[in-house]
Amino acid sequence: MLDLYLKNGKAVDGTKIEIGILNGKIIALGQNLTDITAKKTLDLKGKFVSAGWIDDHTHCYEKLSLYFDDPDEDGIKTGVTTVIDAGSTGSDNIKDFYEITRGKKTNVYAMINISKTGILAQDELGDISRIQENQLLDSVSKFPNFIVGIKARESHSVVINNGILPLIAAKKVQHKLGGHFPLMVHVGANPPELKSVLNLMDKDDILTHVYNGKSNGILDDNGNIESFVWEAYQRGVIFDIGHGTDSFNFKTFSVAVKDGLTPRTISTDIYNRNRKNGPVYDMATTLEKIMLFGFSLAQVIDMVTIEPAKSFHLITKGKLKVNFDADLTVFEIKENNKVLNDSNGNKMSSNKSINPVFSIVGGNVYKTKGND
Ligand code: ZN
Ligand code: ZN
Repeated sequence: MLDLYLKNGKAVDGTKIEIGILNGKIIALGQNLTDITAKKTLDLKGKFVSAGWIDDHTHCYEKLSLYFDDPDEDGIKTGVTTVIDAGSTGSDNIKDFYEITRGKKTNVYAMINISKTGILAQDELGDISRIQENQLLDSVSKFPNFIVGIKARESHSVVINNGILPLIAAKKVQHKLGGHFPLMVHVGANPPELKSVLNLMDKDDILTHVYNGKSNGILDDNGNIESFVWEAYQRGVIFDIGHGTDSFNFKTFSVAVKDGLTPRTISTDIYNRNRKNGPVYDMATTLEKIMLFGFSLAQVIDMVTIEPAKSFHLITKGKLKVNFDADLTVFEIKENNKVLNDSNGNKMSSNKSINPVFSIVGGNVYKTKGND
């Protein structure tokens, strides 16, 4: 007997799909499952169902004052079954973050900040003595199933006069951890220059806030993509959206997409304020924006399922596949005229909205906030 039977669903390619779940795992998949007995049946009535959405750039350690949120507000209430916090905490406070988040319904993972303080203040890397390698390595060994990467924020207000020193330290730690431990790098205002940051990044390192509209960005003075950006892209650096309050620009993105410099993953950089006041709001709104540039539903869903699971080595997540975790997102698409904003006040109109209705985490079904 199954724990949960999802019937009459629709996969992102439009085909019919039914899913059987037992003990938190997907154990059956097909267009029509037969001879099913289940403790609970959910008739999806033709709604879409995909692997659970993974947001690989969030800020959800509730005890901070700058960037903070309740993981379930960013997670199950919006169709996101897994959030990865991007360096809100460091070795000083990541244990507390771990303990708090064990009580959440959303799967919560963390990248550990290269600064031991995490983002207690904007300039967490302004004092290089806050990089304590042994403490960081100790945290990673204590929470191996929680800490899935390292985060280094490389913009002027964060590093002050330390330039690329934090990233050099992060690369050193990454090598000690081996197995290509994931490393995400935030970029913004200079110094440090984007070129010197990218030159230190290797295949499978993740650059977030790629399509921002700042002067230290991916475009040169003539509005063309910088050659060092192409070099990093071709070397296999993973380009991530990381929308945020200040880091996603429609014009930058349109130039990049036209030239084929496309993102591998879509993330929100969500926290309390940009969730409530915009321009982020939630993952679904971010997906709607990316779709305005010609990406199909199947493509954007891959960018929040298969791809982030690969980047962060979440080997049992990101796919609708037997023996994978029963993390699923159920959603509808409605015809609906709306105006979408980037981080710089530019507007585009959209004629569809993506509305998550259920988040299913380890086989447990939760209604989203849009489902009443
Ligand atoms: Zn950032
Ligand atoms: Zn962030």
